[in-house]
Amino acid sequence: MTIRTILTEPNKILRQKSKTVDLVGSEEKKLMDDMLETMYNAKGIGLAAIQVGVPKRIIVMDISKEENKKKPLYFVNPIIKNKNNEFSTYEEGCLSVPDQFAEIDRPSSCVIEYLDYYGQKKILNAEGLLATCIQHEMDHLEGILFIDYLSKLKKSMIIKKLSKQKKIDRIVV
Ligand code: ZN
Repeated sequence: MTIRTILTEPNKILRQKSKTVDLVGSEEKKLMDDMLETMYNAKGIGLAAIQVGVPKRIIVMDISKEENKKKPLYFVNPIIKNKNNEFSTYEEGCLSVPDQFAEIDRPSSCVIEYLDYYGQKKILNAEGLLATCIQHEMDHLEGILFIDYLSKLKKSMIIKKLSKQKKIDRIVV
């Protein structure tokens, strides 16, 4: 498994719409293995393929809190079949928007149809953190980041901050 570089905002690649996966083959499995390793390394609970620069509709997640009880989840071509009219609020962050957090409202539960690691069709009834996390990750497949839900002013402040951080990083390198 290889730890890949996570792209951070501002970056045009993150705004790309990811493409449907035709077949879950060895290349996709290798990508999912790498994504999981990359996500654990970065201490995240979800990662979409586009965040490592691959425009495929693939997501990995692990919302289990205990370090020694890992429960990786793999979603290929996820589709929301149904979502609750009620909303819940979480303070969200994102590995592609480092050190920035904001409260975001999303449907509190949803039904997801997807292919698993082995290419098998699955249905998942997601609630709570799982529902929020999968919706956050599915936004990545459309080129959407959580900061897009904020006011223009708040969003531009965050992007400005991130751009500055990037410049500092470039000098250090
Ligand atoms: Zn994210």
